Amino acid sequence: MTLMTGQEYRQSLNDGREVYIDGEKVRNVADHPAFKPIIDVKARMYDMSHEERYADVCTATLPDGDAICRAYQLPKKKEDLTAIRRYVETVLDDLGGVVYRVGDETIGEMWSLYDAQDKLNEIDPTYADNIRHHVDRVARRDLFHVSANTDPKGDRSKLIEGKDGGTLLHVASENDKGIVVRGAKFETAAAYAHQAFVKPTISNWTNEKMDPFACGFICDMGSPGLKHICRSSLGKGRDPENYPMSTQFDELDTLLVFDDVLIPWENVLFHRSIESAQYIRNTLHRYSAFNYVLRLLRRADLLIGTALLNVEQTGLTKIPAVKEKLAQLISYREGINAHLTAAVAEAEKSPGGLMMPNQSLLYTGRIYALSNFPAMAHLTRELVGGQLAISPDAETVADPKVKDYIDKYYSVGGWRSEDRTKLLYFARDLLNSSYAGHKITFELFAQSPPFAQYLAAYNSFDLEQVREKVRKAAKLTQEVVNG
Ligand SMILES: Cc1cc2nc3c(=O)[nH]c(=O)nc-3n(C[C@H](O)[C@H](O)[C@H](O)COP(=O)(O)OP(=O)(O)OC[C@H]3O[C@@H](n4cnc5c(N)ncnc54)[C@H](O)[C@@H]3O)c2cc1C
Repeated sequence: MTLMTGQEYRQSLNDGREVYIDGEKVRNVADHPAFKPIIDVKARMYDMSHEERYADVCTATLPDGDAICRAYQLPKKKEDLTAIRRYVETVLDDLGGVVYRVGDETIGEMWSLYDAQDKLNEIDPTYADNIRHHVDRVARRDLFHVSANTDPKGDRSKLIEGKDGGTLLHVASENDKGIVVRGAKFETAAAYAHQAFVKPTISNWTNEKMDPFACGFICDMGSPGLKHICRSSLGKGRDPENYPMSTQFDELDTLLVFDDVLIPWENVLFHRSIESAQYIRNTLHRYSAFNYVLRLLRRADLLIGTALLNVEQTGLTKIPAVKEKLAQLISYREGINAHLTAAVAEAEKSPGGLMMPNQSLLYTGRIYALSNFPAMAHLTRELVGGQLAISPDAETVADPKVKDYIDKYYSVGGWRSEDRTKLLYFARDLLNSSYAGHKITFELFAQSPPFAQYLAAYNSFDLEQVREKVRKAAKLTQEVVNG
């Protein structure tokens, strides 16, 4: 197989998938104005792999000589994690914006299951074969792979019982071809991806009644019976000058309905396995949190750059209190950077023999980045000042009847009014627009809600070493039992 091109990716989406948006059934997502900008972003990523200048960073070679996307190479040593970081940074540099659900961030969830082949073998050895096959297949075919975890909850008493066998996604029946699944998931990018790893949602996976719900599988996004019901685009119909990010980088979320979708046996990764459901919930972001936090680092850079350019225009950087605020932003950014750098330096061998970022540093880095983002965005807002919210739009400022006034009141020092307003529009899309608000909510939830992120940090920290320090310092007796 060969690396896909952007054009091949666009064509591959015209597969009869059933997509709905703004009260309309979409004929071909690649041509639709709501989807086109983000599909163009992913197409650009595919094309990057074919460019000489990016070959080293964006591609890797399998032992048999097949070229694959760098992000899809299983990490076996620390250098592989560094190469993933370089890949993500290079892609974001080229795009000039931040996108999350573009494949590299979700692939790691399959690697987490790859690590559990021993457990899968205990249920049925074909499941271990299937995960190996899919990890290899996605790389060789260069597929756009995403992740479906979260079921819409609604009435929680109806999740696993009642009409239709419960609202939580489950296996409605099985036959010689595969399993037939019914239910729904929320999923960013599903409508323009090739396939998803569908798996159990956050729940208390201990109840035996949940057997039919404990399934994990790869689903083709054009499968018959699968319905993509999408939220409206936040960029469609907006002017790119006023909304430079919304119009390019809005990643569309889907309510994905499985109306009795047949999943062939070769795509089933586990079935009727509460233990596998527990395992995947506990390890889901073992690798993918790294790619996620790399995006949060880039968002921090955009905050600093936006604040800095704004205060430099007006000479405010001469004021020590303003420098102090910029230093707070810098400390935030470097805190994220430190977690990521240390997660690679202190990387750990996974149970399946892969190299995983240091789990404690990675999960605490994700919490650090996410929990401080709102305060840092607010600080940036403060440094940009009120013009962020009250500046007239690009069309108005270009109107010859008002242009002289704009030049008079918006030019400052070496900054022409055109550049000043451009920077303000960028700041608005980073901090204040519908897209900006959506992005903050996405970041808060898309890799699981805060309580689950804290649990991941708790579970990956070495509790025994701190117990032991206090046992020793407080001279406790050996009889003390752990909680
Ligand atoms: C923009 C966006 C994009 C998303 N993209 C994806 C995607 O691509 N794939 C995907 O699978 N999912 C996706 N999600 C869904 C996301 O993973 C969920 O929103 C998240 O896991 C929370 O689940 P929920 O919305 O069902 O909230 P609920 O489970 O109803 O929880 C709501 C709140 O209740 C509290 N709460 C609930 N249970 C507990 C508990 N046990 N302990 C403590 N507090 C609790 C918490 O405050 C929690 O935040 C996306 C969400 C958003 C907003």
